[in-house]
Amino acid sequence: MKKRILVTGGAGFIGSHLVESLLSDGAQVICMDDLSTANPVNTKHLHSDGNFRFIKHDAIRPFSISRKVDEIYHLASPASPKAYQEMPIKTLFSNSIGLHNSLNLARKHNAKLLYTSTSEVYGDPKISPQHEGYYGYVNPIGPRSCYDESKRFGESLLVNFSRTFKVDAKIVRIFNTYGPQMKIDDGRAVPNFIYQSLKGEDITIYGNGNQTRSFCYISDMVSALKSMMASNIVAEPINIGNPKEYCSILQLAQKIKKITGSKSRIIHGKMPKDDPIKRKPDITRARKLLKWQPKVNLDKGLGLTIDWFREHLKEYHH
Ligand code: UDP
Repeated sequence: MKKRILVTGGAGFIGSHLVESLLSDGAQVICMDDLSTANPVNTKHLHSDGNFRFIKHDAIRPFSISRKVDEIYHLASPASPKAYQEMPIKTLFSNSIGLHNSLNLARKHNAKLLYTSTSEVYGDPKISPQHEGYYGYVNPIGPRSCYDESKRFGESLLVNFSRTFKVDAKIVRIFNTYGPQMKIDDGRAVPNFIYQSLKGEDITIYGNGNQTRSFCYISDMVSALKSMMASNIVAEPINIGNPKEYCSILQLAQKIKKITGSKSRIIHGKMPKDDPIKRKPDITRARKLLKWQPKVNLDKGLGLTIDWFREHLKEYHH
């Protein structure tokens, strides 16, 4: 019998790649998304697939699925700093009420659930790299708190729900991820720099550009999410990201400028409040427990992403 899988947030950047991969594994996939931050182009080509079903629904509002579901991936939440700061209440509720709705469904269907938490649970970390045992340095009332604190609450909800009701629920902490199908106007560094480079506009670095991030290509992220779902790890967070592809934001801008052959100028603006100075995952646990590690390096991944954006740029009217 075919596995039936629900993906909330399945039309978003990571969700749409995950849905596609699950379909190619032969599963039946229910993609639930309210399209508030998703690019509908991401799942357009899947509608003709008999194993794909789309439900336009906000996971914050109650939902039920009549036929048995085997696995649930709860991804539904605004995720870019621009999006979650524009929709703070929705973000808070997606990772609390929305996650609770998914957990209840998992309990009812005796399904496994995977929740996508974030490196933002570490806030502006005082140690680097960040391992799962680090409790973080988070401003509970700052501009990023709607995301950071709701993801932290989501982890607590999941762990306690799992212990109380014996639900097989898993947590991954996703670090910066990039690739085709990102929204070019989601405000993140990678799509901003690619757009600006391709258009010959100024490349906007916030602050001096010495802040660092590690960049994980989307195919590596999807394989990690599936490995985690298949694992017997319950209610224990695992970092997923690419510690090798670690650089400053200025270096990232220079790299994208070079690959695109752009003549754009690099300019500096104000550093946003509470913007983490450094972020790099310690993936020892993922390596050991999932036998997973990223394969795609930044040059290769950026090349693939830039090619995709070149093709799709005309779909965006600024
Ligand atoms: N950033 C930047 N210019 C931009 C967009 C982002 O300098 O046009 C910086 C941002 O301030 C942060 C880093 O790039 O330090 C990564 O930001 P992003 O929004 O991609 O995600 P974050 O890692 O902060 O969640």
